[in-house]
Amino acid sequence: MYWEPDKECMDREELEQLQIERLQSTLNRAYAHVPFYRKKFDAAGVLPEDIESLSSLARLPLTTKDEVRGNYPYGMFAVPLREVVRIHATSGTADAAAVIGYTRNDIRTWSNLAARLLVAGGVTKDDVVQICFAYGLSTGGFGLHYGAERIGASVIPASIGNTARQIKIMKDFKTTALVSTPSYALLLAHTIRDMGIPKSALSLKYGLFGAEPWSEEIRRQIQDILGIVATDNYGLSVVLGPGVSGECIEREGLHLNEDHFLAEVIDPETLKPVPAGQKGELVITTLTREAFPIIRFRTRDLTIIHTEPCPCGRTGRRMSKVAGRTDDMLVIKGAHVFASQIGTLLLDIGGADLRYQIVIDRKGAMDEVTVLVEAAGAAFAGQDRRQAGLAESMRKQLAHDLGITVDVRVVEKETLPRVDGKIMPVVDHRKP
Ligand code: ZN
Repeated sequence: MYWEPDKECMDREELEQLQIERLQSTLNRAYAHVPFYRKKFDAAGVLPEDIESLSSLARLPLTTKDEVRGNYPYGMFAVPLREVVRIHATSGTADAAAVIGYTRNDIRTWSNLAARLLVAGGVTKDDVVQICFAYGLSTGGFGLHYGAERIGASVIPASIGNTARQIKIMKDFKTTALVSTPSYALLLAHTIRDMGIPKSALSLKYGLFGAEPWSEEIRRQIQDILGIVATDNYGLSVVLGPGVSGECIEREGLHLNEDHFLAEVIDPETLKPVPAGQKGELVITTLTREAFPIIRFRTRDLTIIHTEPCPCGRTGRRMSKVAGRTDDMLVIKGAHVFASQIGTLLLDIGGADLRYQIVIDRKGAMDEVTVLVEAAGAAFAGQDRRQAGLAESMRKQLAHDLGITVDVRVVEKETLPRVDGKIMPVVDHRKP
């Protein structure tokens, strides 16, 4: 099932031709209408016409989120405000937010791209889609709402909060597709289970989750409890919102919408491109955005791009589920380790309700990593021997996956320090 088969299954050569045409037009518009890009290109000594092929893209400077914020509010817009029909913003304090504009065409494109990921995840016009994203300045709610309406599904703009009411709506309105963050889906799933509601009392078939990294273990739990096919989707407000990429029901990586975005993967330290199949930071260039073209945007998200074909027939290359962010990268004994990678691994073993803290110390010239795990949640209920066994499997798995020795210690529940109710995931005592 495809939404735009001629685009989603486009011949590779034809796609690359389309990409270079769209790239050149984007660069020309950005250079002509956004002083920020003109200054940057001039400083780098590159003109839009110098970019004659996709491989010369790396000659252009990268754009960071701080630069977007620095042009608050409308400095990055490439069209006059009268052509903008929608304005979104990222979270952050008022003058440190990134403000994003959309023309009528941008909204049409966005709706189609959101429709693509919904259809790839199983949704049709016969579905009842419950959208549990905030409807506000952030892009999640509206982006997926327009996509689902475009398909012709019946859309419930349930927004967020009030879990009991969400579940009542889900039962009474016979929701067949749930759209939310994976963590909210997990909360709904656990609440449904705790309320003793059987799967058969629900009409759910599909779950489409995005906006945060999640592990295969969380996917397994959500799928099991709710009896659904759960797919991952990806997007970020600065480049569009949801609709940059999404999994098909094969669930083997997220198909990039390459007719609208150029995706590169770079080494976050050297900033040089890394080959397909290797992990690095995702960098995105928009190819069709009118109001808000963005050139080589550093997403800070870590992923791998896969080029092998998918059984579903889509030709867009796939990105692996986001494995963490470069800003949570730790250098331990010279190795690059991501705090979220450690977290994902701990949750896979200890369960989604596990609470932990990663503590890093330096003894002499050696870095020492200790993971403190609270003895709470289902996995740790029980005797000391079981706890020791769990800590041991975490230690082994961390050594195997990360190549570093990590001490895992179980502490009493509710003993890790909390700030505003949250445990700081990493405490690095090496920092001055
Ligand atoms: Zn596929």
